Amino acid sequence: MSGLVAARTLADAGREVVVLEASDHLGGRVLSIPCGATVIDAGASHVWSFYRSTRRWLGRLGLSADLVPVAATQRLPIRLGDLPAILRAMGEVGLNWWRLDPARPLRAAPLDNRSIAEYAARRVPPRLVEAALRPAFEWNAFCELEEMSQVLVLQAGRLVLGARPHTLRGGLHRLPLALAQGLDVRRGPAHQVLSLELAGDRVRVRLKSGGELEAGAAVLATLPSQAAAILHATGSLEQFLLGVRHSAVARGWWQFPARDADQGLRLVSSPRGRAALASSRVVGDRRVVSLAIYGPAAAAGEGEDRESWLLARTLDMFPDLLGRPVLEGGAHLWSRAVTTFETGHFRRLAQVVHALPSGRVRLAGDYLVSPTIEGAALSGERAAAELLRSSILEP
Ligand SMILES: Cc1cc2nc3c(=O)[nH]c(=O)nc-3n(C[C@H](O)[C@H](O)[C@H](O)COP(=O)(O)OP(=O)(O)OC[C@H]3O[C@@H](n4cnc5c(N)ncnc54)[C@H](O)[C@@H]3O)c2cc1C
Repeated sequence: MSGLVAARTLADAGREVVVLEASDHLGGRVLSIPCGATVIDAGASHVWSFYRSTRRWLGRLGLSADLVPVAATQRLPIRLGDLPAILRAMGEVGLNWWRLDPARPLRAAPLDNRSIAEYAARRVPPRLVEAALRPAFEWNAFCELEEMSQVLVLQAGRLVLGARPHTLRGGLHRLPLALAQGLDVRRGPAHQVLSLELAGDRVRVRLKSGGELEAGAAVLATLPSQAAAILHATGSLEQFLLGVRHSAVARGWWQFPARDADQGLRLVSSPRGRAALASSRVVGDRRVVSLAIYGPAAAAGEGEDRESWLLARTLDMFPDLLGRPVLEGGAHLWSRAVTTFETGHFRRLAQVVHALPSGRVRLAGDYLVSPTIEGAALSGERAAAELLRSSILEP
């Protein structure tokens, strides 16, 4: 996502752009897969109402009308006795409002001193941790509360009032495809970038095919560990890039013959650490069920037939489907899915920001802003805007 946003921004400003993508699939962790008469988002799926950059792009590309709000499935079990704790937590968010802008992660560095689990243990009634925080972070963001920085929950506190998730009709993959429209995109393993080197006032790009390209500038929008290898990064930059972690997510989806009683969207969860999130909806005469399993449980499927393993877990959660024929289905494993933003990530980013490439080579990627398509889009826009401002790239 971040690379395509950078490319589109540069192309719209009249610069000649080549997009090099190492896989056959365009869009990275945004991936929609057809399943019968519907489309499953096997990667990112939700666009929140507070995603400014993403929504601006959707608007520019003529896709806004296809954003569909996701119905709330759960009410929080808030009791009167919880109010003092909630007010204290809101007060903390209010006091730090300026620091909690997810688009400006460096401002949050001073607050990045403990995990969400440690934060919750001090601030949030345990019942609300189970009812609100765990589902939001572990089941939707696929990350462990023990690992992630408290900054993420404080940022969410600033954003969440009145916020609504949406999905894109036809699959979120329509967004990267629309971004790429009209660009010179070269994809597939032969176009994997092996290294970027400065050669006078040009950037030399070496490809896996053995070929080379030269450009006035480059935006490197891979995962951070890949960026470290491509740049031959050393010192604090290498340490930072190699230190960014990702959760694993295994996703499976199936279609069964529908019955009248199956109407509506349903979210269920199996015990913590086993399954993240399952949903069931009726499309035409079929019931579409999808399941996402994260973290250690995603790895637990390793070595077995992952698809059968995921199907068995799905049937554990929807026993009414037992015995029904599977009409269609599939599975996908993301070994590096959601960028974890572990405790200390914001501080490490603030320390290393002066060592990030800032000349003809720029970095982009969600790990520089926030672990979402919005973070990716913002990072891509920024990398492109900095290049345009620096006048390295004359039209
Ligand atoms: C299962 C899942 C669910 C998610 N749900 C949501 C959600 O609901 N909402 C949300 O906002 N976010 C969600 N996310 C997170 C979101 O998908 C990511 O934050 C975002 O897509 C990251 O974009 P990126 O550009 O940083 O990286 P990527 O999308 O990973 O892009 C990196 C690209 O670089 C390419 N590449 C790597 N190495 C090379 C090389 N050497 N040469 C050329 N190309 C290379 C890769 O093939 C890839 O296309 C989800 C992610 C997953 C996996």
